[in-house]
Amino acid sequence: MSSPLWWEGSDAGASEPSTVPGRPASVPRQADVVIVGGGFTGLWTAHYLLQAEPSLDVVVLEAEHVGFGASGRNGGWVSALWPVGPDTLARRHGRAAAGAMVRALQDTVVTVGRAAESAGIDCGFHRGGMVALARSAAHEARARAEVAHAQTWGLGTQWLSDAEARERLAASAVHGATFNPHCARVHPRRLVDGLATTVRGQGAQALEGVRVDAIEPGLVRVAGGGVLRARHVLRATEAWTSQLPGLRRVVAPVYSLMVATEPLTDQQWSEVGLSDREVFTDHRHVVIYGQRTVDGRLAFGGRGAPYHFGSRIRREFDQDAAVFADLRATLRDLLPQLGDVRFTHAWGGPLGIARDWHPSVGHDPATGLGWAGGYVGDGVAATNLAGRTLADLVTGRHTAITQLPWVGHRSRRWEPEPARWLGVNAGLRLAQAADREEARTGRPAQLGRVLAALTGH
Ligand SMILES: Cc1cc2nc3c(=O)[nH]c(=O)nc-3n(C[C@H](O)[C@H](O)[C@H](O)COP(=O)(O)OP(=O)(O)OC[C@H]3O[C@@H](n4cnc5c(N)ncnc54)[C@H](O)[C@@H]3O)c2cc1C
Repeated sequence: MSSPLWWEGSDAGASEPSTVPGRPASVPRQADVVIVGGGFTGLWTAHYLLQAEPSLDVVVLEAEHVGFGASGRNGGWVSALWPVGPDTLARRHGRAAAGAMVRALQDTVVTVGRAAESAGIDCGFHRGGMVALARSAAHEARARAEVAHAQTWGLGTQWLSDAEARERLAASAVHGATFNPHCARVHPRRLVDGLATTVRGQGAQALEGVRVDAIEPGLVRVAGGGVLRARHVLRATEAWTSQLPGLRRVVAPVYSLMVATEPLTDQQWSEVGLSDREVFTDHRHVVIYGQRTVDGRLAFGGRGAPYHFGSRIRREFDQDAAVFADLRATLRDLLPQLGDVRFTHAWGGPLGIARDWHPSVGHDPATGLGWAGGYVGDGVAATNLAGRTLADLVTGRHTAITQLPWVGHRSRRWEPEPARWLGVNAGLRLAQAADREEARTGRPAQLGRVLAALTGH
């Protein structure tokens, strides 16, 4: 099995947690704040908590190793994208609140870069924006509508002509593109590992190989026995939330898979583009995403893997030969100049989707329980905003970000099985069918409207 490209050269080099150095001999019995999950959410939260109150006793418990989850596997887009559209937010919370959310996400992209820089984390952060190609008349219609809509919200999305688009990414069948400047490229594992080092330096205990069996007000129960008590218990377990007692229907774990090429030569890069390290996608319905990596490869991913019955998460689900083959074929179709370039890595992992596709962050001062998650595929930046927000909530500070509309949002639970399995996989098949219909007819698929309604956009 191939492990994520990003794990090469990292502490945990291989996917097996047994290789983790420094596994703790024991877990403390008491802390001020315990955070469950050693991904971006957990570590940003620890970082900002200790920045606000350096004397706090903060313990992060991670079942495997830091960056084992989506934070160590993702496409490395640090973006202001959000799974809930601003119109939906405005209907629920008013236009001002929706606008504040848009601006907070845009600011967060910059904040991640600054925070990494000031912590001395060399994670290849580069804000070159995002190119989303239109590769059919149907894509073009959707893309132009998106630009018009974006203007009403200050989302910053611009239209690029065919020539401008191809100058950024010399792809096949280009009918123009949208460009959004609020997006950066990052090496995700370097960022998450760097954050772990930073929070340890600030005095947090970030303990690896410690699985939490249950989260309760004032305590967590550790697998194999043992209880850690804390005034505040924060859940940062994203897809794995679905494996915890009492929380099984809070998010659905949905897989996203990736492949990576060998490093391209300078000549190949001059034929491909991405000279400003733009991240890229196109306007199809089944999400795809790519980046030019720090070491000169193309890393490219997409959804398309099935949701597994009962919200199961298994290591073998990270690998799906059919999806990997599709991803490789899609990238070659996008960039035929790649010729016989070799693909060297293939991996995947689960992300978390709430029933209404609405990410949320919150903290109940009465019980001390807090959480953040449900970012769908847009968590790399949002986890930083979540960390700052949780730190403010836990330390009792009322700030602009604690007023944002995702704070305290409660999504309804997913349906019990088999309805959940049928619903999530039907949504995926609908998106695939809409793409096929558009490829055949060249016109925007009617199914697209159904999809938009289903996903809350
Ligand atoms: C393949 C892929 C590509 C993606 N691409 C992008 C992208 O380009 N841009 C973007 O914005 N988003 C992307 N995402 C989503 C993004 O990576 C996530 O939203 C984000 O990393 C979530 O961070 P997190 O810390 O909340 O969760 P995670 O990183 O999943 O961390 C949760 C951690 O909790 C630990 N844990 C779980 N249960 C327990 C327990 N019981 N006890 C102890 N520890 C536990 C896990 O081991 C894990 O390390 C992608 C996701 C995937 C899977």
